[in-house]
Amino acid sequence: MTCKLCLQAKPLLDSHILPEFVYRPTYDSSHTAVLLDLQEGRRGKRQKGFTERLLCGDCEQHFSRWESYFARVWLHPAQALRPAVLSGDVVKVAGLDYSIFKLFHLSLVWRAGVSTRREFDAVQLGAQEDKLRVRLLNADPGRPDQYPFFGIAQRDALTRGFQDQLLRAFEAARVNGHWVYTAYFGGVLWHYFMSGHSRGALVPAVFDQSGTLTLGVQDWTDNLSVRDLAQRMPPRRR
Ligand SMILES: [Zn+2]
Repeated sequence: MTCKLCLQAKPLLDSHILPEFVYRPTYDSSHTAVLLDLQEGRRGKRQKGFTERLLCGDCEQHFSRWESYFARVWLHPAQALRPAVLSGDVVKVAGLDYSIFKLFHLSLVWRAGVSTRREFDAVQLGAQEDKLRVRLLNADPGRPDQYPFFGIAQRDALTRGFQDQLLRAFEAARVNGHWVYTAYFGGVLWHYFMSGHSRGALVPAVFDQSGTLTLGVQDWTDNLSVRDLAQRMPPRRR
């Protein structure tokens, strides 16, 4: 079997498309992740999230370093760099590693793109797929205007912090001739611009080598798509 990242014939692992930890806050009391199947318009439950044999052990390790980093700086109770409380319309998260943080996000979109699972059909990277593969293999995040992304933090009314308990894999939209994929995890509605050309100020410069990420902030109940997402997920048992 051929590894999708290094293209070598090696035994492949059953890899997560989205890393296991993004499902964790959505686990109910039976420790089952709640997943939405957007195509079928139904919700399902799985022990481990969606997996597929995509990567060899070495490439899995390559990605897991970026995943661990994101889990730590975003979700770790004591070490997260994101603020516990979201006040105002904008939040800045400083001290991020530009390269690792961006590569983590790009690796998610790429994995969804190479996945043959129906749940990730929305992501069709076309000519960008192989360019991204090489970038990921070489751990090259590119310039801030290459495959830029931004996020809108979703604020919980009670905790005033990030609304972590929702999860949605990718949806696609076409904006000014560019493909944009959105995904919701880690309390943020992320938007990824995956066109090869970066002409024009498509995305405000919200993340660069300084390692400071600027996120918009909104109450999650004000976002129609997030509200819709919440309605389709079962109530959490406590
Ligand atoms: Zn490999």
